[in-house]
Parts: sequence; C-alpha cells; structure tokens
Amino acid sequence: MPHLRVCALYPDVMNIYADRGNLLVLRQRCAWRGIDFTLSGAGFGEAIDPDAHDLFYIGGGQDRDQELCAADMLETKRDALAIAADAGKVLLGVCGGYQLLGHAYALADRELPGLGLVDLRTHRVEGPRLIGNVAIEVDLDGDGTKRVLAGFENHAGRTALGPAAQPLGRVLHGHGNDGASGFEGVRRDNVIGTYLHGPLLPKNAWFADWLIAAALGGVELNELDDAFEDAAHASARRAAGM
Ligand code: GLN
Repeated sequence: MPHLRVCALYPDVMNIYADRGNLLVLRQRCAWRGIDFTLSGAGFGEAIDPDAHDLFYIGGGQDRDQELCAADMLETKRDALAIAADAGKVLLGVCGGYQLLGHAYALADRELPGLGLVDLRTHRVEGPRLIGNVAIEVDLDGDGTKRVLAGFENHAGRTALGPAAQPLGRVLHGHGNDGASGFEGVRRDNVIGTYLHGPLLPKNAWFADWLIAAALGGVELNELDDAFEDAAHASARRAAGM
C-alpha cells in the first residue's frame, strides 16, 4: 500500500492563509484512494530526516513570522532539505514559505536569510501590497500541456528570479512574483514555490494530485469524482477574470 509522508515546517507559525486546508486536501485525496497518509510537523530547533518524508510543506506567514523561523530553518533544517530536494522529494513553499526558499528576504532595515535552494531573492517594498485573485499558466510535465492554477495572492515582497531559476508559470491575471515580470513562482524539479494561496490545493485539486504522484515517485493515481473541486476551480478562475 503506498504511503505519503508529509512534513509541515513550522505549522504553528507559517500558516497564514489556509495552509492547514492545503494539508487536509492532501490527506483526503490520499484517503479516498486508500493511500496511507502521515502528517508530521517540524518546529523550532527540530532537525528533520530527509528520508523520513516524501513531501515537505512550508506555508505563508507575516514578516514577523518569517523572522521567527528563518534563522532556525537555516540552522536546523537547511541541509536536510537540500538532500531531500536533490533526492527528488517534493518541497512546496507557499508565499512566505516560498520567499524563504530563496537566498534572502530583504526587509527595510535587515535581511532574513533564506534556504538558498532556488536562485531567487525577495525584497519588501513600502508600496502597495500585491493583493488579489491570480491565475497562472503552468506546464508541469514539460510536455506542452498547459494548465491553469488559480488562487489568491497577498504579499508585500517582490521576488526576482536569478539566472539559474525557472518560474513555475506565466501570469494570466494578477501580479505574480513582482507585478511586472509576468512570471509567477519558481520550479526546480520537485521544489516548487508560489505566491498562490487562498487556498491553493482545494481550488486546484489536479495540482494536489500532481504533488502526491510526484512525492510517491511518479505513481499513476486513479481518477476521483471531482465535480465539487472542478466547480471550485472554475469559480476561482472566474474570480481571476478567466
Ligand atoms: N510576509 C510576506 C510578504 O508580505 C509573505 C506574506 C504571505 O505569506 N502572505 O511578502
């Protein structure tokens, strides 16, 4: 029987926008298929075993939440996450968690260190927050099949991808990484960062399945009756003007 082992990083702190809902979607979609599911959390000072989990999740947070965990994450979890990423484990960072996957998140007077797992840097601007419904076009399997992820974004940080980074997708509606580049998120194999929450996986059940399949080493998942989920996706797309 397949078994999906998920580890949420700082689940009590980095959970600003429906991050628990994202985890529930993973759990439920596994349950419906008879896939065993284990959720563990790793908080302050806790080391993680890269082999003990298939999918690592880090959710959103306010600047002060990110500040609480950035240095700890670097010190106690960075090396394990780098090993996990190189081994093809799934690492999903949403919004504040996405920003911390990069080199740094620069605030007005100081810089929060990031994990440096992807080539990007974020800086906070005092200008308007980038808020609203967002839709992006992605080609996750790299075979030209374009799909839409729809969600909600709310961030002050502007993220600039470095030359070694690939975006997750192209903005169809909304702001994305910086409101100007037309790119959203980052993708390095199974390391994925995105500003989409609000919440991401209930609105994009197909993406939850993609993550589950990738985390289980590329297994084929049986289809589910997704009438409700498809309606949620359609509604999120409509909200984003698609
Ligand atoms: N604090 C970060 C920002 O404002 C991330 C916000 C979030 O996770 N929603 O850019």
